[in-house]
Amino acid sequence: MYSGQPQPPQQQSYNMQPPQQQSYNMQPPQPSPPKTPAQIGDEYRSALYAQCAAGVHEPTTKFGVCGIITAVVCFPIGLICLFIDTEKKCNRCGIKLG
Ligand SMILES: [Zn+2]
Repeated sequence: MYSGQPQPPQQQSYNMQPPQQQSYNMQPPQPSPPKTPAQIGDEYRSALYAQCAAGVHEPTTKFGVCGIITAVVCFPIGLICLFIDTEKKCNRCGIKLG
């Protein structure tokens, strides 16, 4: 008959430290800094010009000065000149359309 006291299992708790990986080269991804109004404007302009580059222009009809004068002086026949002396331009990039 053994009357020995059951010995509790010894738990040796070593200070287990995970191997430290020193990675100096790895930089955490930086959150994008808040944009300045100038940057927002640049992006906005870039987006607009990107549309122009893709062929999506913003056409606007401009009357030439000569046509306007002729229309006023030679009213109403001068109106013909007014509509002849027009040119379609892109409102953004200023390229001639049509
Ligand atoms: Zn354009």
